[in-house]
Amino acid sequence: MTNIPHVVILGGGFGGLASANELRNSLSSSQLKITIIDKKDWFMVGFAKLWIINGTRTFENSVGSLNNLGKKEITFIKEEILSIDPKTKNIKTNSQTISYDYLIISMGAVLAPEKIPGLKEHGFNLYDHDHLSQIHEKLMSIKSGKIAISIMGMPYKCPPAPFEASLLIDAMLRKRGVRDSIQIDFYSPAPITLPAAGPDVSKKILELVNSEQIVFHNSSKIKSVEPHKLIFENSQTDFDLLLAIPPHIAPKVIYDSGLAKESGFILINRDCKTKFENVFAIGDVTSLPVTESMAVPKAGIFAEGEGITVAKNIISKILSKEEEVYFDGKGGCFLESGRDTASVIEVNMFSNPKPTTNLTESNEDNLVKKQQFEKERLSNWL
Ligand SMILES: Cc1cc2nc3c(=O)[nH]c(=O)nc-3n(C[C@H](O)[C@H](O)[C@H](O)COP(=O)(O)OP(=O)(O)OC[C@H]3O[C@@H](n4cnc5c(N)ncnc54)[C@H](O)[C@@H]3O)c2cc1C
Repeated sequence: MTNIPHVVILGGGFGGLASANELRNSLSSSQLKITIIDKKDWFMVGFAKLWIINGTRTFENSVGSLNNLGKKEITFIKEEILSIDPKTKNIKTNSQTISYDYLIISMGAVLAPEKIPGLKEHGFNLYDHDHLSQIHEKLMSIKSGKIAISIMGMPYKCPPAPFEASLLIDAMLRKRGVRDSIQIDFYSPAPITLPAAGPDVSKKILELVNSEQIVFHNSSKIKSVEPHKLIFENSQTDFDLLLAIPPHIAPKVIYDSGLAKESGFILINRDCKTKFENVFAIGDVTSLPVTESMAVPKAGIFAEGEGITVAKNIISKILSKEEEVYFDGKGGCFLESGRDTASVIEVNMFSNPKPTTNLTESNEDNLVKKQQFEKERLSNWL
């Protein structure tokens, strides 16, 4: 009997699901065994979190179940990944050891609010699904005062998302008739709104938020949070409601396995290979340099593109084909305006001689496309 190769995928998020499906769509279960391990059994497209905040969605009607993967003959194991041993090709979870022939690490970025003293006690985490309903309730009851949206570390997931959040919050407060009594301040450690998108797109985003009376404070590097007070390196300010984007780090198991240095992400090239044979890394858990000072942004669309790249190369290897493909660095992120329209930030990270970005016009059509984007991923992947 011939041995069927086994691909183990760590993380059932954007990258993990894209690669698993690409693999299964090309190779049957008699050609390839696929296992996904994740500590949670659901998947949600990141931007649905903002729809839970503005009340157009609930958690329950925004998620797909990873247990559906069984129908595609993809084994799903709901367990915590405790160690990765690339030398023996073994993964340990809380109850078992799983061996692999190919490994795809797509464990995402971990939110680390504990890195900012006082944040956990005095602020909400805009990206944490456990905080979304509470944030919604706060936004539905606040009558006056100051809302602070604060980016507390770079890089963070989906660079435009906090700006989109500010626009959707503005819309909520307008609908409630309380916007004139509430100030919205946006704090970022960066000098411009979206450094990865360049100065021209950044200027347009600044104009967009300013047009809704959202005040952007650049170069605001956070030190700590006190009750109703943000302490920056060079200044301080007060707030009534704090919505923070905490620093992002790689999961601890990544450092423990020697795949990245403490607090860094796994360094990859466009082939998404790691220094270990047949071990690939994709998505938010990686750092893929574009220039000396810029890396591919952390976004689902890029995790997906990298996942498909890796899957194609594993398929080639299994079918003994010579072809190798490289991640193309192309993608787009929707930006909702809060006025029932959306624009798209289109990027080509590896365009020659330098990355290109473009912000399309904001229209209703793009909002429909955004909704379709989510629907397609949930129905195609799960
Ligand atoms: C509010 C918001 C809006 C966003 N909007 C967009 C957008 O419009 N477009 C876009 O492209 N991206 C968007 N994103 C970003 C996008 O969600 C992420 O970049 C994407 O999910 C990254 O995919 P990934 O596969 O690398 O990681 P993830 O999708 O985070 O998946 C990682 C998985 O690994 C699992 N895991 C981690 N550690 C362990 C462990 N030790 N044991 C077991 N399992 C583990 C996690 O449970 C998780 O399911 C948004 C994000 C947010 C928060």
